[in-house]
Amino acid sequence: MLSIKNLHASIEGTPILRGINLEVKAGEVHAIMGPNGSGKSTLASVLAGREEYEVTEGEVIFKGIDLLELSPEVRAREGVFLAFQYPVEIPGVSSTNFLRTAVNQVREYRGLDPLDAVKFLTLMKEKMKLVEIDQKLLSRSLNEGFSGGEKKRNEIFQMAMLDPTLSILDETDSGLDIDALRIVSNGVNQLKSDKNATIVVTHYQRLLDYIVPDFVHVLYNGRIVKSGTKELAMELEEKGYDWIKEEVDSKA
Ligand code: ADP
Ligand code: MG
Ligand code: MG
Repeated sequence: MLSIKNLHASIEGTPILRGINLEVKAGEVHAIMGPNGSGKSTLASVLAGREEYEVTEGEVIFKGIDLLELSPEVRAREGVFLAFQYPVEIPGVSSTNFLRTAVNQVREYRGLDPLDAVKFLTLMKEKMKLVEIDQKLLSRSLNEGFSGGEKKRNEIFQMAMLDPTLSILDETDSGLDIDALRIVSNGVNQLKSDKNATIVVTHYQRLLDYIVPDFVHVLYNGRIVKSGTKELAMELEEKGYDWIKEEVDSKA
């Protein structure tokens, strides 16, 4: 589904990603971990197509398409979902209206008829149940005055509604309380299928007690320096990142 080859990216002329290689197949959950400043969020942003980042080398092929050639909007319609790509605040527009527009744009792109109000409501109820979302949340303006946990819930709900092929969740270590962890992981686990894939970016080993990744990759200095399974995450929980830094730095 996703093939990243020798990806290099810079911000304001400073190289951040220095040769990322990653293969993600349908049905898989990959966790990207690594110390602060290693380039995890940069990788997520480059995949989403954020403009500040300049890709200087390498390729990203998604479902056989050169992802780097596509605008962020088209990437989203092709089925790439990034939680933080969606607006933080649209005053006066309820998340319901916003979502209906977004869902119907995706459907149109996929050659499906738009959902009318009734069908949309049915879909919403089904997905709300799936991610245990309170109906009251939806009548509020999008992300306006939401708590950390509510924002997470809303993100995962958006993900459920948009039915992405590839979801990229950048879980910054800040503000992830136990409740938010549970919401994110339940959502990811519930939405997992043999047709989609998820990349979870996290600094936080704990998230992986809830989400069981098929693969764990450690990013350090803009490269994936170690890959493994869940056991690698447990090893990191126990030993931290220093041993990996030492291993890499001693080879350099
Ligand atoms: P992580 O998510 O792993 O903590 P980031 O991708 O956020 O790492 O950052 C990687 C590196 O890029 C860090 O050294 C950071 O200081 C640098 N960086 C991130 N954003 C910018 C920016 N806008 N301008 C300059 N440097 C940046
Ligand atoms: Mg960081
Ligand atoms: Mg980050």
